[in-house]
This record gives sequence, structure tokens and C-alpha cells, in this order.
Amino acid sequence: MQIPFLDLKTNYESIADEIRVAVDRALASGWYILGSEVESFETAFAAYCGVKHCIGVGNGLDALHLILRGYDIGPGDEVIVPANTYIATALAVSYAGATPVLVEPVDATCNLDPEKLERAITPRTRAILPVHLYGQPAAMGPINDIARRHGLKVIEDNAQAQGGCYRGARTGALGDAAGTSFYPGKNLGAYGDAGAITTNDDALAERLRRLRNYGQRVKYYNDEQGYNSRLDELQAAILKVKLNHLDRWTARRREIAAEYTRLLADIPGLRLPEHPADIDPVYHLYVIRHARRDELQKHLAARGIGTLIHYPLPLYLQKAYAGLGITAGAFPISEAMAREVLSLPIYPELTLEMIATVVGAVREFCEGE
Ligand SMILES: *Cc1c(COP(=O)(O)O)cnc(C)c1O
Repeated sequence: MQIPFLDLKTNYESIADEIRVAVDRALASGWYILGSEVESFETAFAAYCGVKHCIGVGNGLDALHLILRGYDIGPGDEVIVPANTYIATALAVSYAGATPVLVEPVDATCNLDPEKLERAITPRTRAILPVHLYGQPAAMGPINDIARRHGLKVIEDNAQAQGGCYRGARTGALGDAAGTSFYPGKNLGAYGDAGAITTNDDALAERLRRLRNYGQRVKYYNDEQGYNSRLDELQAAILKVKLNHLDRWTARRREIAAEYTRLLADIPGLRLPEHPADIDPVYHLYVIRHARRDELQKHLAARGIGTLIHYPLPLYLQKAYAGLGITAGAFPISEAMAREVLSLPIYPELTLEMIATVVGAVREFCEGE
């Protein structure tokens, strides 16, 4: 049995009829940028997250970058990001001209450590950019308390956690503003690049509607130098259909995660995902840890099981960020994660038989040692 890491084709086939209707409607409208499909999706996604505003943009990186621009965060400013996040989180800060300041995660949750966060704040810090990594909401209560005490903005990177909850509130509604990504492999994925910003901040929302569209509010009258980063009508029409299925898909991801956890619990040498009681994760990824991760990955690949590593090299050790001047050893928890984490297949279409096959192969490796 071949078990791919991700299977977007089967997911598409399960909703193809609905998608075709939506795509035909968008195409037949004759209006392809910033029209009724985008407006309708923005209204639906804002309601889903429980916020006043949603602004559709080109992708997740742009969403985060535009929020920073919308708050006038730029050169000379510092923004705190987790040391173990995907590079896009830090790139958004760099795009704005500000400096990403890295903070270690909590080893158990892989999310930003509020205690270490407070020590990283300087007079130049303007914002905290927590990531709901792997679909687990970050410790937003303590993070928001610290931000309030220091007068900082809190910007959620919600690319991996659409539908997740922290103490009963949805991600995307847990800070001053949130950027999310609808990259095809995300829990709510488009069929191309797409992203959005969610916020309750009226002034920010109004500015972002201009910034995403060349800085204009009235066509051909540019209030400031903006960007071209618009969610397109086709992707919006597709996302509106998929949003209606998101809770069902999330429920299925949670069942799969529970099944993995039940079946993997007694295997020696393996660490399973852990999360605090006050969050409801959405399992964008199911991430296990093992000291001989690379061999485990090869073992699974030889049995037709696809896995990925999120992420193999911390962003500050990437060539792209050599300029930060941070050397190996600086963030030991993040570096241990990079050595040990392995993401198992998880998507709504994964069957019990496929889960059993993955678990059997993991067990064979671990118990054969
Ligand atoms: C996917 C992702 C992004 C970027 O989203 P794009 O739509 O690819 O630009 C940002 N942050 C995190 C944590 C992500 O997983």
C-alpha cells in the first residue's frame, strides 16, 4: 500500500461537483479581481473566526507583511518570532524592514515560550508574532498579558491552525490581527496561492484594504505606496465552498490524531505530540520525535509511506539568514526539534487501514532497535 504524505486529489474529488459550480459562477461573472466572490468569502471567514474584518490577500507571507506595514512597523523596529517556525514568519518581518528577534519554543508544545519571550523584549520591540505551529494554538493568554504590559502588538501567524481554539475562541481572533495562508496543503487550502488577514481593528482593516490594492481607496487615487496582493475571485469562490467542509475535515483530523496517539503510545523511543488542556488543536501536522529520525524516515519510505520534516534546518541557520549572525547552538530546543521531528501523513481521507499500516511500520523500526 502506498500512503502519500498528502493527497489533495482525493480531497478534490470528494467535493468536485460543488467546486465546479462555484468556479463556473466566478468565470461566468466576467469580473475576476476584488468582486462579489472575495467579499462573500471575506464575510464568511470573518464570521468563522469570530472577528469583524477579513481582508483577502495573495498569500500567507503577504498577509503577515501587510499587517506589519499597516501598523507602521519597519526599519529600527524588532518583532519577536519563534526560532523554530517556517521561514515565512521571519521573512514577513524582514520584508517590512524590521528585525526578527528569535525566541525558543517550549519543548513539549513546540510553541513560543512566554517566559523566554519576556526576556527578549527591548525598547525597540514593537510586536510579538506567535505561530500556531502544527495546528496547535500558542499560549495566547500569557503572550497577550506580556504584550499589554509592554505596549506591543500581537500578530498571530495562523497559517497552520484555521479552526483551532484557545480557551473557546478561534485562532485568527486571539491577537490584534492574524495572517493566514490558504496554500493548497493548509487545512483550508485553495487551488493556488491565497491568504487573508483577520482583525477587529477597524483602522487597520481599512488601511489594509488600501495597501493590498496599490494604496488606493478610490480607483486611480493612491493615498500611499501600496502593493499588489489581492485574493482573486476564483480562489475566493473555491475557498467559500471548502470553508463549509472545514469543521468536518477538522473533526476527522482529530480522530486520526487520537488514533495515532492510541496506537503509538507504548512504542519505546518515540515522543508524541502534547498539548495543554485549554487548546483545541486542528492537527495540520501530526509530529512525532525520534532520536534516529532520518533512519526512521527511510524505513517508512521503503514501505511506501510518505513523511516530511517540519523543519530540517532552523531559519537562523539558513544561508538566507546568515546576516543575523546567529550560530549553531544558539537555540538548543529548536535545534533538537530540527534533528528529531517527523510528520506522519494526516488528512481527512486517511483510512483506519492506512493509519494501522503507518503505525505498524513505525513500531517495526522502533522495536527492532
Ligand atoms: C504556509 C505558512 C506561511 C506562508 O504562507 P504562504 O501562503 O505560503 O505565503 C507562513 N507561516 C507559516 C507558519 C506557514 O506554515
